[in-house]
Amino acid sequence: MNITGEYRYLGVEFGSPTSWKSYLERVCTCARIRMREVWYCARGRIPLDIATSVRLFKSLVRPILEYSAAIWGFHSAAERALKSMKRIHTDFGKCILYLQRQVPSEYIFRELGLQRPEERVDIAMLCLFGRLCQMGPERLAGHVFRGRCNQVDAGQARGSWCAHLKQLMAREPSFHSVWRLRSPLHKWQSRAWAACRDHYTVMSETTIANQSLGKLDVLSHLGPCSGALLRSSLRHKGARIRFKLRAGALPLLWTIAASQQGLDYLEPENRVCLLCLQRGQHGEVDNARHLLCVCPRFEELRNNCLVRIDLALGLTTAPRLRMAMNHTEGCYSLFLGDSLFGELQPDIHRKVDKIICNFLRALWRQRETLWSAFTKEGDPWSLR
Ligand SMILES: [Zn+2]
Repeated sequence: MNITGEYRYLGVEFGSPTSWKSYLERVCTCARIRMREVWYCARGRIPLDIATSVRLFKSLVRPILEYSAAIWGFHSAAERALKSMKRIHTDFGKCILYLQRQVPSEYIFRELGLQRPEERVDIAMLCLFGRLCQMGPERLAGHVFRGRCNQVDAGQARGSWCAHLKQLMAREPSFHSVWRLRSPLHKWQSRAWAACRDHYTVMSETTIANQSLGKLDVLSHLGPCSGALLRSSLRHKGARIRFKLRAGALPLLWTIAASQQGLDYLEPENRVCLLCLQRGQHGEVDNARHLLCVCPRFEELRNNCLVRIDLALGLTTAPRLRMAMNHTEGCYSLFLGDSLFGELQPDIHRKVDKIICNFLRALWRQRETLWSAFTKEGDPWSLR
């Protein structure tokens, strides 16, 4: 008879103290390979739209990562694995949004509407807790679960699955009695979903607010896109520029100062537009809003774009969009967001979107030429 220190049961390694670690490393490797396959299929000659690519990721990659998450989530190996899983999510997001530059992971999760792996694991664990509670003492799993919970209440079994669950439930006041009585609330699964969603949304909002003077300034002003932008593919270069501006991944003085440590002294109010200064005007700060909606160097392109949009609208009554075209904040969300497209018919929306993409492409081409006068050759992120 062969004696082995580790064996695989139902696709998961058991037996040795490091079995969870080796299992989690294996699934991360496997999921990363699958993620690349999905990306390879999604980009194609005619790329899939972003929402479809994300759906493929959710149905083909995420299940690999989440298999048995309700059980391994408590283990010390999970922390490292969750970081690796988060990277798989963000790497996929960067691929489909054509973002090479370092972008905050918060941007990818919010923009693509993806839940963080931690959130998914917490939900899975809470749901399993609900199922175990419903098992009577005649079931071995139910008997062991209750015994373990009692040990945790007595201050023992630290580091156990039940101890982790107790901590998890302590952060939601309405769950305190659930732990005490070992009895889940009515519609437990949706309660668990809602509690985890609220918890991680608050964390995410805090992260975005903390970076509102950095790379996430567009996201903090305009919010994540509501759908129309995700339903388009990024074949058009202007559409890629739009997402790069939203992610803070293009070299504006604002993002350069926010991303390079040596330029910390450049306080937000001092990051003024060098193109305006060059013409003797003391412009506003050089961020996406100024570039697209205010900077006089691009006035002609901007006005041209607005006239074209007006023509494309024709007789369409789109009061919010028409109103937005008359002021800076409105133009900002028109050029970079998608909240104003809801009142347009699909064919008009396509026309307007193409005009905006053409504008962004032409504007960025012009800006690159002008910007090269202030930076080291070949590196638009390094000022002279
Ligand atoms: Zn300017």
